[in-house]
Amino acid sequence: MTDEQNLGFDTKLIHAGASPDPATGARQVPIYQTTSYVFRDADHAAALFNLQEVGYIYSRLTNPTVAALQARMAALEGGAGAVCCSSGHAAQILALFPLMRPGCNVVSANRLYGGTVTQFSQTFKRFGWEARFVDTDDLDAVEAAIDENTRAIFCESIANPGGYVTDIPALAAIADRAGIPLIVDNTTATPYLCRPIEQGATLVVHSMTKYLTGNGTVTGGVLIDSGTFDWSASDKFPSLSAPEPAYHGLKFHETFGAMAFTFHGIAIGLRDLGMTLNPQAAHYTLMGIETLSLRMQRHCENAVKVASWLEQDPRVAYVTYAGLPSSPYYERAKRICPKGASSLFTFSLKAGYEACIKLIDNVEIFSHVANLGDTRSLIIHSASTTHRQLTEAQQIAAGAAPDVVRLSIGIEDADDLIADLDQALTKAGA
Ligand SMILES: *Cc1c(COP(=O)(O)O)cnc(C)c1O
Repeated sequence: MTDEQNLGFDTKLIHAGASPDPATGARQVPIYQTTSYVFRDADHAAALFNLQEVGYIYSRLTNPTVAALQARMAALEGGAGAVCCSSGHAAQILALFPLMRPGCNVVSANRLYGGTVTQFSQTFKRFGWEARFVDTDDLDAVEAAIDENTRAIFCESIANPGGYVTDIPALAAIADRAGIPLIVDNTTATPYLCRPIEQGATLVVHSMTKYLTGNGTVTGGVLIDSGTFDWSASDKFPSLSAPEPAYHGLKFHETFGAMAFTFHGIAIGLRDLGMTLNPQAAHYTLMGIETLSLRMQRHCENAVKVASWLEQDPRVAYVTYAGLPSSPYYERAKRICPKGASSLFTFSLKAGYEACIKLIDNVEIFSHVANLGDTRSLIIHSASTTHRQLTEAQQIAAGAAPDVVRLSIGIEDADDLIADLDQALTKAGA
């Protein structure tokens, strides 16, 4: 048997976690559309419920189609284990839930997906959690924000909406010194462009809704654990290090070692929070992942072409793409995501807010949607949509100022995308 770990990335995209179905030989991963699984006998059922044996009980917790996707994502990110869930936002809760208690805080990048800013700044408060937003390019500010109640640092590898690249090793070093995990949202980069665990991250989260599934069909999320963090080194993480009353005093870290966070995510997280991924969605995502490398190569190539064209156009004030030599993040991108800077970036129109709105109303190939990472090219005016909940100061800090348009470049012909933007800019009177 080939050792799955030693396979190349493109082979893992297709084979990791998926062997022919033992019952039928089906080559593609079947959609196990079932809620429950027949126990062999009463002892088998008891062992499963006691977490003494790994197996299938009920699909809120585990399902074979979802399990194949979990194994594939763990392999692609180089983690010990993974837990799938119903959306990227659910993955963020699943990552933080075992770490946090009322009164705890997470030190977070201020450049984030708009919905994450809202989740962190508004909804977390109701759990008694605090998010402390800092500019993660200012490493002193990151250190200064950490106190004895900080339980994690959170950032995006390539940050929404402007495509800014985060210095993951620098943040990982700070997290190590503080004895806390670094959580990286790797949605925009995908493991094809960036593998945060290799750069020192403890936990990786994804919205699989985006490039992983790749064609705008399903929402899904995943949490991947490196398996390397010592949850018992301090008393900061009792969910993992202390006896768990719901499982007769079992200690997750002591019992499951590198799989502690993964098993906790399933046995406590999915069991009690219930944000399960359904097997149909897992199937779409598994199929999407098979072509991830090919798509990401084309996404990046097209983004370079479109961003370069925009940059030289006199109607455009600036372009924020880290794949352009003019970007302040160009050198860092070569280190963090050497195969490319993904296909999400923003540009600003000299003619301002009104011209941005007219541009969006006049594109024909680009779709005006609140999504990214689709095979189709997408356009949105963040300030009036995804980042609308934020104050203008927060919008500017997040890279979503009123005169800024966000693009997610698809895998169509780049010349057609450029022609579409050109005609829409003309109609917008930009
Ligand atoms: C979309 C997105 C999310 C949220 O994911 P959902 O699947 O929509 O819940 C989180 N982070 C980033 C970077 C995203 O692009």
